[in-house]
Amino acid sequence: MTRRESILKEIGLAPLWRLRERPALVSPLAPLAERGEGEGGEGQRQDHPHPGPLPPAGEGSERSQRIAALGWDELKAAVADCRDCRLCEQRKQAVLGVGDVDADWLFVGEGPGADEDERGEPFVGQAGQLLDAMLAAIDLQRGKKVYIGNVVKCRPPNNRTPEADEAAACFPYLQRQIALIRPKLIIALGKPAAQTLLGREVKVGASRGQLFDCSGIPLIVTYHPAYLLRNLEDKAKAWEDLCLARRTMKELNDVAR
Ligand code: URA
Ligand code: SF4
Repeated sequence: MTRRESILKEIGLAPLWRLRERPALVSPLAPLAERGEGEGGEGQRQDHPHPGPLPPAGEGSERSQRIAALGWDELKAAVADCRDCRLCEQRKQAVLGVGDVDADWLFVGEGPGADEDERGEPFVGQAGQLLDAMLAAIDLQRGKKVYIGNVVKCRPPNNRTPEADEAAACFPYLQRQIALIRPKLIIALGKPAAQTLLGREVKVGASRGQLFDCSGIPLIVTYHPAYLLRNLEDKAKAWEDLCLARRTMKELNDVAR
């Protein structure tokens, strides 16, 4: 058994999580604006106009301009002390993110849960274990060319979904992380991450299998690991999404050569 097969077996994905034939996607290397006509993960085409790029970090309020000028140390300190939305009230600590600041891959989740709030690192609970297994299945490892962050840096009470105003308040930090890391590919884990990064309504099921444009960086939408823990039947789709992500990264690296 190969290492990947034993990982898949261990996380209960074998024999489902097998590499499939490449779906009929629009080439990831076509200009991003031309995409959106590819086969969706469930055979649905993208029925929304392509979102415009996000405003460049720094545009907008004085606060976002200040955040857009921060280096890593200052960003970490600013987030640790931030009280700019109500999520500061019940957090134990703010959780900025973890990983390689020179990462090719950026995975974005929703917000810290109880374990993350306790330990100060994203995705360290059960969903995090699944995320680590998903990374391992495509030969990735937390911290090695991989950065993991969240839409909101403070734990929402009872792990509720962040409100739109909370996500918006925290977004300049994520924008700054993206600008500092300059990842080659972003994976949005679940609806809140996809909506925040793309700046519009997103249905995860209908957005799978496509490449979106997040301020010039290709972005793939897939299910959140916590959702997958509750909906085992969708793990196969998440595996397809990861395979698409891996192929996209390979193509991005091939053209860069
Ligand atoms: N779920 C998330 O979205 N992020 C975490 O960091 C942990 C669980
Ligand atoms: Fe600040 Fe973000 Fe925490 Fe809200 S969630 S208090 S904006 S760091």
